Amino acid sequence: MAQGIPDEVLMNTALIKDLADVAKDAALLQGVLMRAQETLVSYAPFTLFPTPVPKAVFLQALAVQTHYNTLVDRISQDSEFLQEALASTIEVDDFTARLFRIHQQILKEGRSQSIVLGLNRSDFMLDQKDGQAASLKQIEINTIAASFGGLSSQTPDLHRLVLKVAGRLEESRRILNNNPAAGLAGGIAKAWELYGSERAVIMFLVEENQRNIFDHRYVENELWKRDNYVHLCHSLFSDGQEVAVVYFRNGYMPQNYMSEQSWDTRLLMERSRAVKCPDISTHLAGTKKVQQVLARPGVLERFFPGQPQVVEQIRATFAGLYTLDMGPEGDTTVEMALAEPDKFVLKPQREGGGNNIYGSEICQVLEGMKDSTERMAYILMDKIHPRPVQNYLLRQDAPLKVSNCLSELGVFGAYVRQGKEMVMNECVGHLLRTKSSEHSDGGVAAGVAVLDNPLLI
Ligand code: ADP
Ligand code: MG
Repeated sequence: MAQGIPDEVLMNTALIKDLADVAKDAALLQGVLMRAQETLVSYAPFTLFPTPVPKAVFLQALAVQTHYNTLVDRISQDSEFLQEALASTIEVDDFTARLFRIHQQILKEGRSQSIVLGLNRSDFMLDQKDGQAASLKQIEINTIAASFGGLSSQTPDLHRLVLKVAGRLEESRRILNNNPAAGLAGGIAKAWELYGSERAVIMFLVEENQRNIFDHRYVENELWKRDNYVHLCHSLFSDGQEVAVVYFRNGYMPQNYMSEQSWDTRLLMERSRAVKCPDISTHLAGTKKVQQVLARPGVLERFFPGQPQVVEQIRATFAGLYTLDMGPEGDTTVEMALAEPDKFVLKPQREGGGNNIYGSEICQVLEGMKDSTERMAYILMDKIHPRPVQNYLLRQDAPLKVSNCLSELGVFGAYVRQGKEMVMNECVGHLLRTKSSEHSDGGVAAGVAVLDNPLLI
């Protein structure tokens, strides 16, 4: 492994076992934790060693983030663009259609709040063809519930410790500090301040044991009794206590809206004066369909007129993205995918991991819907091929063995706009997640990927 962890360390079984024990203890001590059961916590899964990432590509990813913030924000204000981009999708995808209806309703009524808070995470993989340099390609941008800003600030110390114990002092010094949580919180604080009422609270709409937090009855009957959070939650619904900012850690999956009432609640929130993170149009700006439309010739220029360098910087990170709309262009996409399915990923408009389709399954799925409008719910994307790196994935109850691993680099962005003025636009940190190359899909929460840190080379 070039300038990474040498084989003499990686293959030293006794040392690896010791390091894994040290690392797990340190994780427990430093709060790198995840709930395992109702009353049980364990360490959040992580790699034993940091993963080498070329410095130039890492810096490129950080540098493009403020432009991505601007892009998402401008898309969210361009209702004509959203309407056109999502027209085919909402014909066939019910979930996106329902979000879109809320968006339309808000447009009709006029936005209730001119302060916008965006906290997002742009995810990349390093495409690496044999013998060529790594090239940074965006997988997707998450404009709602972008997670792991908190845990990723605790993991640099874990890897520093492991490397020190392994006698790799020089490498341990190359692990970067990272504190996305501080930057994300800074965005929330800024939005709260601009809202301008000391009494108004910040509400976090979180997942609670997979239950449907949007449901009025649940909120009122059960959570209401329990804690402060619920107090805030309830007050938004009943319009008692003033809410300055609502952060959506929930609400990105169809399962989060199990009743009509859930949808009413989302609409109620959108109509409220609270600063929504994200607001409904920013939520829609993060769909995979919008990502595909952005990759069409000339579209980025619409959002950055007279800024060809910015357009170039963003476009350089786009992988090939293809429409499946009805018509000759979509037909060509279908043919292309059926001919070489291993070169592509088929994606529906879903978030949260485990929804994409790969390899021979692409043929099965596409054969079944190639002449139907059903295909418009999907987009096709070039498959990115990162170079596998050997590492150990530490997770509870899993055997300690060396795996071929692939990594995904996330970059956190935070911005606040008031009316026309961007008052904050920052890149606030990164997240490296690594999974065994046997898995095509899935993040940390889905139980596939684990937390990692870049070792810049
Ligand atoms: P989700 O919204 O479900 O997180 P993503 O687009 O991020 O959807 O895809 C989920 C996972 O699938 C990614 O974390 C990555 O591991 C894999 N993946 C997605 N797109 C590609 C791609 N173009 N090439 C290779 N792997 C991909
Ligand atoms: Mg993802």
